[in-house]
Formats: sequence, structure tokens, C-alpha cells
Amino acid sequence: STDVYYDADADESILDDQTVAVLGYGSQGHAHAQNLADSGVDVVVGLREGSSSREEAETDGMAIATQSEAAAQGDIVVMLVPDTVQPDVYENAVEPNLEEGDTLQFAHGFNIHYGQIEPPEDVDVTMVAPKSPGHLVRRTYKRGEGTPGLVAVYQDATGAAKDEALAYAKAIGCTRAGVIETTFREETETDLFGEQAVLCGGVTEMMKVGYETLVDAGYSPEMAYFEVMNEMKLIVDLIYEGGLMEMWDSVSDTAEYGGLTRGEYVIDESAREGMEQILQEVQDGEFAKEWISENQTNRPSYKQLREAEQNHDIEDVGGRLRELFDWDESAE
Ligand code: NDP
Ligand code: MG
Ligand code: MG
Repeated sequence: STDVYYDADADESILDDQTVAVLGYGSQGHAHAQNLADSGVDVVVGLREGSSSREEAETDGMAIATQSEAAAQGDIVVMLVPDTVQPDVYENAVEPNLEEGDTLQFAHGFNIHYGQIEPPEDVDVTMVAPKSPGHLVRRTYKRGEGTPGLVAVYQDATGAAKDEALAYAKAIGCTRAGVIETTFREETETDLFGEQAVLCGGVTEMMKVGYETLVDAGYSPEMAYFEVMNEMKLIVDLIYEGGLMEMWDSVSDTAEYGGLTRGEYVIDESAREGMEQILQEVQDGEFAKEWISENQTNRPSYKQLREAEQNHDIEDVGGRLRELFDWDESAE
């Protein structure tokens, strides 16, 4: 069974004589930096020139430096800029300032796993990844709670990499909720697979095809939107709270019988093969190669696909309906 690490398993005093350089002040950066500071850790935030986050970081009382200066000051340098710009930031600001025994820390394994960043052998390379968007990492910490997280060690030059990662996880609140250990490979590959096959790619394609099937058969776009998109949240909330059975218990017996017998019409053998293909392209690096080259050429396909998505009828109908109806937000 998987070990789960809690507060008692982590020794925060490891961070006492260390400076943490948080590079980037976006979703994860602002949360890590403030939680660390509130936990008594010495933090410096590294921002690029002309950073749009400078004012916010100043208001939050952060010590601010350029990304190079921060990396030089940091014993632990945390890469919290977007994954696509990390190789540049690493090359220009971090690599020249890494010293023997420093830690290079990530919140996602992509750049290490796919060889886009190749750190020197004399530094620790770790991951502390909250399984949550940054605003929740911050909000739960302030309430005395935390978000679950992952730790991983890619390179342990000092022999203390894992203990230090756990100490950091404690300082940002993750060990309050529970932290599990993984590897850069496992985190990266499962993360990419999940978002492509199920969470982001799978769900949106299923909604669009469901919508098109109803509308093409002559049903009203408004009804189609409610059935295949709006109600998704209610179903997912039930599954999130209590698993598949809580959802099946909550819907009508008709919905349960229809779902249990008909779901496989859609997610059939060919869907399984599609998922296996996604996993294959994640594992053999084909997806990573494609995405890296897309970024090197100013994202031509990405822009085109995004525009097509924006122009899909379901966006237009949904946008109008979300404005017309008075949603009960308090139910969230
Ligand atoms: P964001 O997109 O929120 O990061 C934005 C920050 O990066 C801003 O401070 C921005 O600068 C800075 N930045 C952007 N481009 C550059 C550049 N070219 N040079 C220097 N700085 C730049 O990142 P996230 O917090 O979403 O992601 C950070 C890491 O955390 C990633 O590895 C991601 O995979 C991981 N992660 C993210 C999660 C999430 O919920 N978002 C969850 C778990 C992990 P400026 O101040 O000018 O805006
Ligand atoms: Mg240093
Ligand atoms: Mg993800």
C-alpha cells in the first residue's frame, strides 16, 4: 500500500537556515511563496523584468529580486513559471546560479522527464506538487488546512533530498492533508494521460459529440446544452464526494440502468484503443516532442484549435444560457 506522509513525518526545521527562491508569482508561485513565508521560511520571489505580478507580490510583502538574483540567493530554487518557458528561464537565470548542494525543485515533471532541463550532478532535483490549483493551496493553508500533494526525488546529490521535499511540503500545508511519493516519470505520464484522455480532452469531446448528436436530430440547442454540459457538474460532484456508487444511488434507477448498459456503447473497444494510443504517445515522447515544437514555432495548431473550440455552437448557446439563468452558486 502507498505510504501517506503527514505533518508528523516531516521536519520543517530542515528549512531553517535555507533561502527558498520562488521563480514566478502565478497560480502556484503566489501560494507557495506566501505559505512558506507564513511558515517562517526565508523566501525571495524571482520575477522577470516588467512582471505583471510585481505589484501583487509587493502588496503581499514579498522580498522581490530578478530571477537570476533570486536563483543565486536560493538554496532551493523552485520553478513556478509555465512549463513551456522553464527551459529558457533555467538556461538564462538558474543554471549559472546553481551551486553544489542546492536544490532545483519543480511542481511538475515534464521538463526533467523529457530532457528539456538537464541539471548538473551536484544538485538535488525534487518535486513538490500540490494536487490543486494555487488559489486553493493558499486558501486552505490560511484556514489551517491543506491540499494533498506529491513529492518525488529525481536526483539526490546531498542524501537529504526527500526529507527536504517533505519539509517544503509541510511548509506549504500539503502534509496537513497528506502527501504521497511518486517519481518524475509517473507524475508526468499519468498527468498528461489524465488530462488528454479523460479530464480535459475526453470530457470535452464527449460533450461536443453528445450536443451535436441531439441538435443534428432536431432537438433544441438549449436542451442539448443542459443535458450534456451543464448537468455534468452535478454528476461529477457526487462522484467526487462518494465514488461511483454515491452517484448511481442518487440518480434515478432508470438513469442507473441506462447508464450501466449504454455507457459502453460510447466508451467501447475503440475508445480503449484510443486511450492506449494516448498513453503510448506520452510514454514514447511523441506528444512531448510535438508540443515542444509547437511552442518553438509560435503555436500554429494550438491557436487554430483554440479558435475552433471557441466558435463551437455549444459555447455560444452555453454563454447565453449562463447569463439568462440565475444559478445557485451557494450550492458549490
Ligand atoms: P503560471 O502560468 O501561473 O505562472 C505565471 C508566472 O510565471 C508569472 O509570475 C509570470 O510572469 C511568470 N512567467 C511567465 N512567462 C515567463 C517568462 N517567459 N519568463 C519569466 N517568467 C515568466 O504557472 P502555474 O503556477 O500554473 O505553473 C507553475 C508550475 O506549477 C508548472 O510546472 C505547472 O505544471 C505546475 N503546477 C500547476 C498547477 C496549477 O494549478 N496551475 C497545479 C500543479 C502544478 P508575470 O509575473 O509577468 O505574469
Ligand atoms: Mg545557491
Ligand atoms: Mg495536470
